[in-house]
Parts: sequence; C-alpha cells; structure tokens
Amino acid sequence: MSLKDKIFEAGIVGCGGAGFPTHVKMSGSSVDYLILNGAECEPLLHTDRYMMLNCSDEIVWAADAVRREIGAARCVIAIKEHYRAQKRALEKSIETLGAQIEIFEFPESFYPAGDEQVMVYEVTGRTVPPAGIPLDVGCVVSNVSTMYCIYNAIHDKPFTHKVLTVTGRVREPLVIKVPLGTPFEDCLKLAGGALDEDYFVLNGGPMMGRPMTKAQALQSSVTKTTSGFIVLPSGCAHELSAQMPVEHTLNRARHACIQCSYCTLMCPRNLIGHPLEPHKIMRKMSLCRPIDEMLDDPDIQAAALCCECGICEIYACPMGLQPRKVNTLIKAELARAGIRYEKGKGLVEANAFREDRKAPTGRVAIRSGVGEFMNIEIDDFKECEDAEKVYLPLKQHIGAPCVPKVSVGDRVVAGQKIAECPENALGTNLHASISGEVIKTDGEIVIERR
Ligand code: SF4
Ligand code: SF4
Repeated sequence: MSLKDKIFEAGIVGCGGAGFPTHVKMSGSSVDYLILNGAECEPLLHTDRYMMLNCSDEIVWAADAVRREIGAARCVIAIKEHYRAQKRALEKSIETLGAQIEIFEFPESFYPAGDEQVMVYEVTGRTVPPAGIPLDVGCVVSNVSTMYCIYNAIHDKPFTHKVLTVTGRVREPLVIKVPLGTPFEDCLKLAGGALDEDYFVLNGGPMMGRPMTKAQALQSSVTKTTSGFIVLPSGCAHELSAQMPVEHTLNRARHACIQCSYCTLMCPRNLIGHPLEPHKIMRKMSLCRPIDEMLDDPDIQAAALCCECGICEIYACPMGLQPRKVNTLIKAELARAGIRYEKGKGLVEANAFREDRKAPTGRVAIRSGVGEFMNIEIDDFKECEDAEKVYLPLKQHIGAPCVPKVSVGDRVVAGQKIAECPENALGTNLHASISGEVIKTDGEIVIERR
C-alpha cells in the first residue's frame, strides 16, 4: 500500500486546524517545500510543544518519509525561537535518523504564526495567491501532531487517540492523551476539575476556539481536531461575545465603526498581500442593505479570504466591533449563493510594513482575556484509557461524513474500521477508539465499553 493510501486508511485529518483530510495533500507534484507547523501560535495551548519534545523521533522519521514520497526538495520544521528544549529534541532526532530536515525559527512570538499561509510566507517568502492553497507556490504544510499520526499510519496504527491541553480555571492544567470520543467531562476530571461551579469553555485556543457553555461542553467530546479545552470563568468576554445576537453584531457594525481601518492594517491576510480589507466591508455594512444584495461587490466578496484568525476583533478594533463575525456571515451568504472567489493569479506582494504590524502573542493573550493563564507551567502529562463510552461523530473533518460499517449491538475492538469515506468523496475513515458494543450509529457512533 502506498503512503498516501495508508494515510487515507488510517483516517488522518489535520490535527491543528479544520480537519482537512491529509491524504489529499500528498497528491501534489512539483513540491519544493514540506513545512511542518510547530509554531502552536494560539496562546495557552501546549499540545504541539509536548509532541515535539516527547515524540521527536516519530515526527522526524515520518517527515522524512513524507518528504521522499512527495519529492519535496526541502523539509522544514517551523518553531518559535523560545522552544529551545523542543529544538534540541528535534535536532537530536534529525542527527540520529540522518534525516534531511532543517529547523526554521520564528525570531519572535506573534499570532497567527501558525496560519498556513502566514507560515508559507515566513519560511519561503512566497505568498499563496488569494483563495489559493500552499501547493500553488510549491509548498505542503502539515502540523507536527499530524506527522505523529502519519508515523502511526505507516506502522498500520489508525488514528484513534488524541493529545490535547486542558488549562485555564482548572486545578491541574496538563496535557493528556485519550481515546477519540472521550467526553469533555472525563478530560476535566483528569485536570482535577474546574475551579468554579459555573464556567465557560473554549474548544481550542482563545483566538479561534469554539465557544461552549458549560452545558454544551458537558455534551461534547474529543474529536480528531480537538487541540485543547480552555476553562474560563462564567461571564468572561468570550461568553459575552458568543452570546451576542447576529442582529446586534450587524447593527453595531453599521453604526459604531469609526473607519479607523486598524482591522485592515493588522489583518494577517492583508499583510501578506491579499485584497481583504475588513474596514471596507464594515463601511459597506453602514449602507444598511441586506448582505445578500451586496454579494456582487468585490470588497464584500473578499470576505471569502478571511481565515477567521480574530486579530481584527480581539486585537485591533478600538470599538470592540466584530469584523470577523461579519465576514463569517458574508461567507455563509456567498456559499448559499454559490459564489466562489476566483483564485488570484500572478505575483502577490506583501505589505512593506508587515514586520512592524505583527501582533505579539503575549499582548494577544491579554487582549483576548486569558493573560492571567499565559504563564501557567504545564509539566504534567496523563494518558488515560478509562472512558466508559466514546462519542465519535461521523463528520470530524472537511468533506463528506463517513458512512457507518457497523450496526447497533455489534461488538467492536479498538482500531477496527467502523465507518468509511463514501466512494469518490472528499473525506476519510473512522476507527473504534475503544473495544465495546456499538449503541448508536445515527450521526455519531457511540461505543460502550463492555
Ligand atoms: S479574522 Fe479579521 S484579521 Fe483575521 S483574516 Fe479575517 S479579517 Fe483579517
Ligand atoms: S478597527 Fe473597528 S472601528 Fe476601525 S475600521 Fe475596523 S471595524 Fe471599524
């Protein structure tokens, strides 16, 4: 079986982002760079740092195998300069394994260093064209944790476990490794429980994490893309922002924007040269026309280029407005209307002032209301196989949902394929993360340990 087929069979999707099926990235030709994303730019998360420190041999071994498979001329692991222990571990593995891999260090910690397109620009000086992908400029980008999964896939172990950070208002912030589908509540117990009776949770980092009320969090479980759970006090700014009704967001955009254009000046996608100008979108909002009547406007269509990093609303805007949320609404309308942004052609030049406008991670953390947790040392690690039930959604990735191969009442063993990608569709497979009996297959496969 080819490496690409092994990755597909193992059900691997990008661990650090939206869950793009990894085997698809292995289909390119003319690859100059394989870039491993080890920047972990979201404040508070320690997952990738843990992986690079403790699984460097596996990551380096797999990266060298992938480099050979896709014929990449160079393989680069991109990390932050202050990840010194991780750098030492990776260098030792590179030397021991004789791998052709370089380490790129970001000289300062800024957000979003880990954005795929920002990373390509930093490492290669090339700008991915608007609405393009890294392969358009000869690059394949993969997260270091994804590379660890590829190592397992090469050794015929499917994607069944996830390493993630649990931090914030918990007794013992730590990194854990649990079976996919482990309930959030079990993860919280491993961290000694929440410090407050009422709390709010971010599934992911403080900038791009998915907000969840306590009730929603207690209904959620670990998926292939979960990189961490951050527990915050109830009533935090994230909760208030998440609760704001869409109409209120739009009304504020229409009436309170002072057109200072800070959102555009600091937008990471604008800074690498993309024609995304959120202040213009906000200005057009003040015309008070319904969004669906403005979809032919090129400025409005540029919302499709937004990576939803949150810099504009959490870091840049002095009025506390939400250009990101407005862009998300426009993107949904564009998708509904079947309007796709035409991929840019030709050379794109980055903004000459880009270096001066990067957002330092520490300040980003403070502005996003999690500054008090920035200096938590996370030394503890727990591996736990105790989940009594696991909840495995059929769609944990970009593309079509998996189709169940099992029925209620079936007994399955850990590692068994229980759902597969529909034929000729973009998607991936799903495997049992514990042994037990299937008790549900509708929308998600639930396995109860027996
Ligand atoms: S969220 Fe804001 S800052 Fe980030 S890419 Fe979108 S418009 Fe730019
Ligand atoms: S930063 Fe805020 S106030 Fe300034 S232009 Fe952007 S949305 Fe308007």
